[in-house]
Amino acid sequence: MEDIDVIVVGAGSSGLAAAKVLRSAGLTFKVLEAMDRIGGRAFTSDQHFGIPFDIGCAWLHAADRNPYFAEAEAAGWTLHHHQMDVDHLYFGRNKASQTHEAEMSLADRQLAGLMENWSGGDDRVSSLLASGHAARAAATFAGPLDFGKDFDETSIEDFRAAADLDPNYVSREGFGALVARFGADVPVELSTPVRRIAWDGPGVACATDRGTLRARAVIVTTSPAVLAFEEIVFIPELPAAHVEAFFDLPMGMLTKLPVEIRGTRLGLSPFEDLLIERQARHDVYFLCFPFDTDLMVGFVGGDFAWEMSAAGEAAGVDFATDRLCDIFGSDVRNHVGRAMMTNWGGERFVRGAYAAALPGRAAARRTLMEPVADRVFFAGEHLAGPLIQTCGGARLSGEAVARQVAARLAAA
Ligand SMILES: Cc1cc2nc3c(=O)[nH]c(=O)nc-3n(C[C@H](O)[C@H](O)[C@H](O)COP(=O)(O)OP(=O)(O)OC[C@H]3O[C@@H](n4cnc5c(N)ncnc54)[C@H](O)[C@@H]3O)c2cc1C
Repeated sequence: MEDIDVIVVGAGSSGLAAAKVLRSAGLTFKVLEAMDRIGGRAFTSDQHFGIPFDIGCAWLHAADRNPYFAEAEAAGWTLHHHQMDVDHLYFGRNKASQTHEAEMSLADRQLAGLMENWSGGDDRVSSLLASGHAARAAATFAGPLDFGKDFDETSIEDFRAAADLDPNYVSREGFGALVARFGADVPVELSTPVRRIAWDGPGVACATDRGTLRARAVIVTTSPAVLAFEEIVFIPELPAAHVEAFFDLPMGMLTKLPVEIRGTRLGLSPFEDLLIERQARHDVYFLCFPFDTDLMVGFVGGDFAWEMSAAGEAAGVDFATDRLCDIFGSDVRNHVGRAMMTNWGGERFVRGAYAAALPGRAAARRTLMEPVADRVFFAGEHLAGPLIQTCGGARLSGEAVARQVAARLAAA
């Protein structure tokens, strides 16, 4: 393999974006991707339901700041502005009263206020939570189902640094398809996992099963979990602070459980939000019949999502179906069609949904934004400032780091 300016490891949203900036800057580059497709955690598939379904990201968050949104509009994508309020709240099998719903909204606002005013001390979000069903429901929606982490494992500093993601849009064609469209003109070496990165010479050397490629710098866009698991070995080892940062940013989990419900809408309208708050964090959220398709898209998050992944798809689908039966009656079972469960924890080259800092360790993100020896750079959703955890944020991170690399190489 030949020598070039920059190697980009990973062809997800951030890697593809970085490559485009490098190309505009006139630099030579290669993108090496472990999977046999581009997009990473942005992946739309019609294999399961015969219509586009986002296995990974689906919402175009922060649409007013998200470059994908303008592109989706320009491409004539079918977009729906989704108000993420809980339209239907249940405690177990019981519909919440209006009083409970009001309590949930209040608890949500109170938690936001407490976080805003937090001035140090116990950095676990759980330390700010009120007790009671309504407060727990609010916490579930913002915590496991949004941040991918239970609140006793979530840092207040990290959580409050994340932006409010309004306005949120979903598309019929799929966010994964949009990212694939964005990256279609980027040359990528697929099925080429990088095994080792040597940075002891004047540049870097990335070893793959197909040979070693040398460059002046590398941009690593994999999830921090991939690096914590040493899927890529650095020679010499990276500075201790960087290695520690991979472990301080463990992956949260979000598991989707889409279930086809045929021949009935269960009295629900497309895009409504249904939250079922249950014991022991076994809460589940459903996005109801998006775009009037037959899908009730279930979501579980945090530790429960990891447990569900371990239990397997059949258990996951039964769980989602049982919860719908709890509320709408056992006849729902007669309407169930195809179903599936996502398993991002089982994706070797991702290993979870998105990163969230451990309590007291939010500074890890800043550490990883520092390049090593002016030649090993990191980018991705975990380094996306206020848009952490989002696909749009990953793209902005990739672009920013590529500009930084271009500037450093020009100055060298
Ligand atoms: C279930 C789920 C739901 C989500 N929902 C939303 C949502 O609604 N809206 C939103 O904005 N975001 C959402 N996200 C988050 C969003 O998908 C991610 O933030 C974003 O796609 C991450 O992009 P990235 O480029 O940082 O990382 P990735 O997409 O993970 O890209 C990194 C790439 O590196 C590759 N790689 C790993 N190791 C190696 C190696 N050794 N050699 C070469 N290549 C390697 C990987 O295969 C991968 O393609 C969701 C994520 C999940 C999992």
